[in-house]
Amino acid sequence: MEMNVNMIEPIDNTALFKIGYGLYVITTNDGKKDNGLIVNTVTQVAEKPLKIAVSINKANYSFATIKETGKMNVCCLTESAPFSLFKNFGFQSGKDADKFSGVDAWRTKNGLMCLRDNINSVISLSVDDFSDMGSHGLFICSVTEAHVISNEPSMTYAYYHANVKPKPEAKKKGFVCKICGYVYEGETLPEDFVCPLCKHGASDFEPVK
Ligand code: FE
Repeated sequence: MEMNVNMIEPIDNTALFKIGYGLYVITTNDGKKDNGLIVNTVTQVAEKPLKIAVSINKANYSFATIKETGKMNVCCLTESAPFSLFKNFGFQSGKDADKFSGVDAWRTKNGLMCLRDNINSVISLSVDDFSDMGSHGLFICSVTEAHVISNEPSMTYAYYHANVKPKPEAKKKGFVCKICGYVYEGETLPEDFVCPLCKHGASDFEPVK
């Protein structure tokens, strides 16, 4: 087998893309409004006692809400989740938008929302510990309630990239956002460019092939 290991640049960031992830809607309520965001960073980290770790980007409005209220629901997305769901929960801020307007949902015992469609389970969490990770904060949580909603397969990050996000239109010259599929048309991508849809930076763009 041929190995192609670059010893001069020993950290190849694309190596991290090989880690498998699921995709989740995390729901919260700041006391005024129901809110939700999309994350790929939910992991069961212990069995006895049962512990779930959730990492949230501090730039997200939900971060402060979880810090204050100490609770959240994890809705595990299925492969049926459409791109519009990702746009609604992922590509706008709950600071401005009412993300639950027109979304069919019910409340778990902790009072937080649970989507009715496109999920296969809901897990209610209570925050026990917090760890500052720099860009993100890590919440270590206990499970207070959990239900299976359907037996549809879970949405993975790989499935999202292959089947959900829009394909860039062929033969356009430009750069495509690896996160949401937005295409920037032009010869060069400005270094400080920020994706208008998902707010990821230029490093998450690649040339249109
Ligand atoms: Fe994007």
